[in-house]
Amino acid sequence: MTNPPAPTASTARTDLTAFIAGLPKAELHVHHVGSASPRIVAELAARHPDSPVPKDEEALAEFFTFRDFAHFIEVYISVVELIRDAEDVRLLTYEVARDMARQNIRYAELTVTPHTSVKRGIPDVAFMEAIEDARTAAERELGVVLRWCFDIPGELGLPAAEETARMACDLRPDGLVSFGLGGPEIGWPRPQFKPYFDRAIAAGLHSVPHAGETTGPGTVWDALRDLRAERIGHGTSAAEDPELLAHLAEHGIPLEVCPTSNVATKAVPSLDEHPIREMAAAGVKVTVNTDDPPMFSTDLNNEYAVAARLLGLDAAGVAALAKNAVDASSLDAPGRARLRGEIDGYLAAWRG
Ligand SMILES: [Zn+2]
Repeated sequence: MTNPPAPTASTARTDLTAFIAGLPKAELHVHHVGSASPRIVAELAARHPDSPVPKDEEALAEFFTFRDFAHFIEVYISVVELIRDAEDVRLLTYEVARDMARQNIRYAELTVTPHTSVKRGIPDVAFMEAIEDARTAAERELGVVLRWCFDIPGELGLPAAEETARMACDLRPDGLVSFGLGGPEIGWPRPQFKPYFDRAIAAGLHSVPHAGETTGPGTVWDALRDLRAERIGHGTSAAEDPELLAHLAEHGIPLEVCPTSNVATKAVPSLDEHPIREMAAAGVKVTVNTDDPPMFSTDLNNEYAVAARLLGLDAAGVAALAKNAVDASSLDAPGRARLRGEIDGYLAAWRG
C-alpha cells in the first residue's frame, strides 16, 4: 500500500476552490444593473437592435474587460441605456438570479436604483411589478431568494433622495428590506440624506449606506450617527481608525467588503494591501461581496477565494465567513437558521 501524496499548496488551493464553488452563500452588496453579465447584456441588446452595444458574447466579453474606472462608467451607462421597459427590468433581474444560482448563491440583497429607470421613462409601478415578478420566479424556479435594497444615487442629490424614499415607502414592494446610498462620496456628505433615511427607517427598512469607500473614516462615523447605519457598504477606510473598528465590533455592525472592486476603483492599491485583515483582527463582522461582478471581472466565488487567501482561511474558516453574511442579512430568523444549517451540512459532508 502506498501513501497518498502529501497535499501541496496548489492541491489545497484547488480543493478550497471546489469547496467555495459548492458552498451555499449569501451576498449583501451587489448592484442590479452592475450584475448584468455579457450573456445578459447580449440578451438585452438583442431586444434593442439600434443599441451600439456589441451583440455577440465574445465581443461583449472584450467590451467588459475592466480597463479603468472611466471604462467601468462607460460600460455601466451602456447597460443602463439598454434597460428601456419593464420587460428589460424583469429579464435583467431574473437572469442575474440565474447567474447567482450557478454559484450556489442562495440569498442576495440586490441593490436596486429605481430612480435611474423611472427617470428614463419606465413607470414606477411597472418597475416594481417587474422586479417582484422576477423575484418570485427566481425563488420558485432557481431556488434563489432575492431581497431589495433601494439606494439613492447620491450624485443626483436631494431630488433623487426624495424620489427614492417615496418609492420605497409608498410603493413598498414585498421584497424590499433596506435603504441605501451610493454614488460618489467626495462632495456629497452623508448627513444631508438624514431625512430620507429617517423616513425609510420609520417605515421599517434597514439602513445600509455605502460609506468610507473613497473617503476617510469620518464618512463612516457620519453614516453611523446621521443615517443610523446597521451595515456599512465597503467601509474600507474604517481600518484607519482603531476607535471606529472597535465601535463596529462592539455594536455588531458588519462591513460589506468587496476586495476586487476596491482595487479596481483604486480605493486600495492592491489585494495584498486590502485592510480586510485589520478589520477581521479587530473583531468586526466581515462579509464578502462582489459590488458589480462582471464589470470588475469577478464573481462571488472568486471574492471568497481572495478573502480566504488574505485571511489564511481553510474550509471551516470560509464556511464561517459565509455564515457572517447570513447573520448580517435581513433574512428572518427561520430563514437564517435554514441557511446556516445548509452551510454546516455542506461543511460536514465535505469533511466526510
Ligand atoms: Zn456598491
